[in-house]
Amino acid sequence: MSTSINETHDPSLKSWVASANTGTSDFPVQNLPYGVFRRAGSQEAFRPGVAIGDQILDLAALAARKPFDGRAGEALAACAGDSLNALMALGQAHWSALRLALSRALREGAALRAEIEPLLVAQADAEYTAPARIGDYTDFYISVHHATAVGRQFRPDNPLLPNYKWVPIGYHGRASSVGVNQRFPRPVGQTRPAAEGETPQFGPCARLDYELELGIFVGAGNAQGERIPLAQADSHVFGLCILNDWSARDIQAWEYQPLGPFLSKNFASTISPWIVTMEALEPFRTQWKRDAADPQPLPYLASEANRERGAYDVQMEVLITTEKSRAAKQPPARLSRSNFRDAYWNVAQLIAHHTVNGCNLQPGDLLGTGTLSGPQPSEAGSLLELSQGGKSPVELPWGETRAFLQDGDQIIIRAECVKAGYPRIGFGESSGTVLPART
Ligand code: MN
Repeated sequence: MSTSINETHDPSLKSWVASANTGTSDFPVQNLPYGVFRRAGSQEAFRPGVAIGDQILDLAALAARKPFDGRAGEALAACAGDSLNALMALGQAHWSALRLALSRALREGAALRAEIEPLLVAQADAEYTAPARIGDYTDFYISVHHATAVGRQFRPDNPLLPNYKWVPIGYHGRASSVGVNQRFPRPVGQTRPAAEGETPQFGPCARLDYELELGIFVGAGNAQGERIPLAQADSHVFGLCILNDWSARDIQAWEYQPLGPFLSKNFASTISPWIVTMEALEPFRTQWKRDAADPQPLPYLASEANRERGAYDVQMEVLITTEKSRAAKQPPARLSRSNFRDAYWNVAQLIAHHTVNGCNLQPGDLLGTGTLSGPQPSEAGSLLELSQGGKSPVELPWGETRAFLQDGDQIIIRAECVKAGYPRIGFGESSGTVLPART
């Protein structure tokens, strides 16, 4: 089964948690994203929760009370541990049943309010960990605008390689260094020799960058040797998060041939604590378009249904703070905005492609979209593009400039879905901070 519009999407629904109804909250009752949290600074176990307004409903505590029957009860029981993997493994019918039960329990007039209200924890009092144990992490490259802009810098005469318009390009990244709210030291490594044939340089990265991406969390997986066809791909996706794929451009330029990125990418990747489910995103599905001048996808990546509703309208923005801006109490400065619907490939195509050779996906696997630059220069999803390889530093409102990131810089990425007549759905944010290199 795949998701469809149902009573949980009714735009008139309000929650008895008043902060969910403001119109400005990321988490109205129509959203209900999942994360893993505990009270900040406590020794409590991390456990699953669902965001509602400025609160978190503790799903492990709710599971102990067994308020739901049937599939919703089974799905809630899968939330008793320290990650969302067990819930992810159950599949779409269980996710939908739990969403419906939570929606009914959190909306105005709910009979369960008295039992549930003591299980709320304020988001202001919480800390988070990665919402799933991520077994494997794959990063794709699905913005043709990003691929062209970056390709032009690495290969001015030949920016877009001929496979790009046929194959969703990706590489296997590293799961161990994916986390939330990361503060990580500037990576150290080898970079290109000053002159060809000389010894490479070695030291702290001098061209540290972020990448604006979304993360796709796999739900139910597939057996090795069996593929997930395009028509069934949606039902294997649990939800989306924000992803910042930090990138050391000078290390990347020296190491990337012939096998692709390695140490330039695997030192840190920062996701948002919350996963917005595909069912919550159902109202924001939109047409997936392929320019008539471009090759049309091979049959295993094409269907009428995928063209009609394969893309998602998710608006994203990147913001920066620096040591100087924080000391001066300046608000974060926006570096760019972009939209997921402009990507060259879509979520279902990535699932179908990843498994077409028999590769098995597993619950909790994370697929990155790749940098989601839009068609306009102002929609670039990395500093490499915004500063044109460092040649045109970006000016910040408090008087600093950035070609690449400095120590102390914090990158915040936010995402939201906005549509007339429907409550705004937010993703929260991913936040990460660069610390000095450990040399
Ligand atoms: Mn990336």
